[in-house]
Amino acid sequence: MSDIIELPLPPLSDRDNAPILTNSAVTVFYINGRRVDGKLRAFKVEEGKIRILQAQDKQETEILMYDIKAMHLSTPLQWVQDMSLIKSSKSGLKTCAELQEFLITFKDHTKLRGKTFGTRVDKNGLHLFKEHGSNQYLRQYIHIFIPRSSIESNLIGDQIGDILAKDHNVPSEEIELAVKEQQAARAKPLGEFLVENKIVNEKQLQAALSRQKSMPNLKLGEILISESLITEDDLEDALEHQKRNRQKPLGEILVDKGIINRDQIQQALAKKLGIPFVHIQEFKVTPDIINQIPADLAFKHKVVPLSLHEGKLILAIENPMDWTALDALRFNTNKYIEPVMASAEDINWALQFHYTSDDILHRIDDLEDEEAFDDGAHNDSFSFKEEDVTISDNIIVKIINKIIIDAHQQGASDVHIEPNPGRTKVVVRFRKDGSLYVYHKFPAQYRNALISRIKVMARMDISEKRKPQDGKISFKKFGPANIELRVATLPTANELEDVVMRILTSGKNIPVNALGLSINNRDRLLDAVSKPYGLFLVCGPTGSGKTTTLHSVLGHLNNAERKIWTAEDPIEITQPGLRQVQVNPKIGLDFAAAMRAFLRADPDVIMVGEMRDAETAGMGIEASLTGHLVLSTLHTNSAAESLVRLLDMEMDPFNFADALIGILAQRLAKTLCPNCKRSYQPDDQELQHLAHEYIKDMLPPHFGAAEQQPYIDDLIADWRNHHANKRGGFTLYKPTGCNDCNDTGYRGRIGLHELMIASPKIKQKIVARTPAAELHFEALNEGMRTLKQDGIEKILQGYLDLPHVRAVCIR
Ligand SMILES: [Zn+2]
Repeated sequence: MSDIIELPLPPLSDRDNAPILTNSAVTVFYINGRRVDGKLRAFKVEEGKIRILQAQDKQETEILMYDIKAMHLSTPLQWVQDMSLIKSSKSGLKTCAELQEFLITFKDHTKLRGKTFGTRVDKNGLHLFKEHGSNQYLRQYIHIFIPRSSIESNLIGDQIGDILAKDHNVPSEEIELAVKEQQAARAKPLGEFLVENKIVNEKQLQAALSRQKSMPNLKLGEILISESLITEDDLEDALEHQKRNRQKPLGEILVDKGIINRDQIQQALAKKLGIPFVHIQEFKVTPDIINQIPADLAFKHKVVPLSLHEGKLILAIENPMDWTALDALRFNTNKYIEPVMASAEDINWALQFHYTSDDILHRIDDLEDEEAFDDGAHNDSFSFKEEDVTISDNIIVKIINKIIIDAHQQGASDVHIEPNPGRTKVVVRFRKDGSLYVYHKFPAQYRNALISRIKVMARMDISEKRKPQDGKISFKKFGPANIELRVATLPTANELEDVVMRILTSGKNIPVNALGLSINNRDRLLDAVSKPYGLFLVCGPTGSGKTTTLHSVLGHLNNAERKIWTAEDPIEITQPGLRQVQVNPKIGLDFAAAMRAFLRADPDVIMVGEMRDAETAGMGIEASLTGHLVLSTLHTNSAAESLVRLLDMEMDPFNFADALIGILAQRLAKTLCPNCKRSYQPDDQELQHLAHEYIKDMLPPHFGAAEQQPYIDDLIADWRNHHANKRGGFTLYKPTGCNDCNDTGYRGRIGLHELMIASPKIKQKIVARTPAAELHFEALNEGMRTLKQDGIEKILQGYLDLPHVRAVCIR
């Protein structure tokens, strides 16, 4: 019979110098008071049994751990610390296995105390490594095992009384009280204790984590007060605030109020709870550990798994008291979760690093340095040789996956891959918030392979390089994220090919209230689309958010009483309840064909992605006149221009005027980064200028400065009522630049809107084929505000600055 000795070693042990445990002399103390000496023959964690050979017996005795109070290995064992582990850990972890005080109270109220080189826990109980003499070179311990069934309570590490006394010179009665309270809290079966305190045996974390066990379950507020980081008043204020906003964690409220910063909170938690603060970049995390938490969960909760030990998953999180996140992760992974702390930047870095591919980009750059070009050969000879294919393919796959995942995570809308002739690198650029920036440059050798890989993923013809192609990539087939891309290739000079990929935001629908509409525009819009039938259009250039707006309106209309059909290309946002059709012109299912089919399918509301041609527009008008609400988009610049465009498509003016409900023109303007925008008080000249920009859209062009001035003065007086402080001063903002916004000073975008409602007068003018400029003025008279005017309102509200409003409002 083979002996199974599953006794753990102290934390941070050098396993190469591990003591031999088989046949160790052992003393077993039974619960009933009996004591037996012998040799340890088996220690079986799973079965909860040990076997010993008693000195006088020839037979082994099997003992249930349940019957044991404690077991000592009587021979001292030599303990060697693994110096390589200590050295490799540059993190803030207290990895050095300091001797810790322990005090075990057994169920029979006897006590055991001493100093231990850390602790280990298995499913049956607690292992202590009681100090047995040590000097500079040699440390010895006695291995003690205490089954959980015999433990009343335990204290390991710094004791609560010591902490209080050290920090604040609390009078000793209070310390007594605190210790009693803590013991009361500890008087639980070890099983429960483990669930609540989650002791982890992982090498580098063990020593630090074991300190946590003796910590009382303090609340964050009390911890911060005890560290003199906040006052009682601060806490009361914040708790009051929390009553109104229950979703918000206390720490967040305190940070928002500027009372404390995140680092201070983390340090206080590390000190009081004994939760280690780790530097993730120091940890070597293997892919199988990363796979323990799927990317979507990791990004959602901002956690990074670090290691897995005995079924416990150790993961880094910014706030280790975020029980909601930890519970969700425990539920999803079906594992004990042991949180350790890391900074938000570290976590973000690690998420990018581990959940995309390895440091593939750097590896490629290194590779390039090593591989000098063969000058004799023609440049294009680097197109892949047969024998290179397998290795290179692997790298190419990783590069493309990383590009796509990075683009998605950086919030880019498009990826441009631009190969160049000769040795010039392949430039990869991302478009985000409307602007392009260089993501990375790859060695010229990779150009063909990169393009080919994308063509394979998009099911294009790889050999066809002279004609443009289009296709789609469903990325979840290739990588760990559900991203859809629309891909276009274009032949460029020197027989090269460019690729542009549009990332289809598998979109959440945004409520109408979150579109950035002014209150006036929002109310007029909702009023317009509440009509049971008619035609409503959203216009603007590509990427101006037309589809998002239409879907918000659909979301508003979407209920059990309406049948809503949509024809889209592509379907970027899905909403439960909508019946959405993907247009596919290759098989003859274009917008017009879809519309025709919808009319036979009992619709209330029809959304058509775009009115590209006269046929679709004509059908849209017809459908809206036969009792349906039709929503669509037009590729035009302004509300008035849209009217003219449709009439130019030979629409019948009477029918069109009859059908039209309204037209919303829109743009997206870059918002000032909320983190770094700098406030200033504009002088009178700047206000006059802003008011002039606002007013000139409304006044006849022949008005001179003198004729404009009264309007400008009125407008500024009106602004003073709405936007100025009590003393009549305005606050505007300038861009600065910080980490949050890549030093650009701008982050995110907000919609600018121009909503023309088809009033009876407007309808008359449509029938009369009135020129666009006149229609525009009529609409202004009736309360429409231009895109630029809407933008200037948003400047006064502090979201935007004039240069970027101007940039998107140029006609
Ligand atoms: Zn910024």
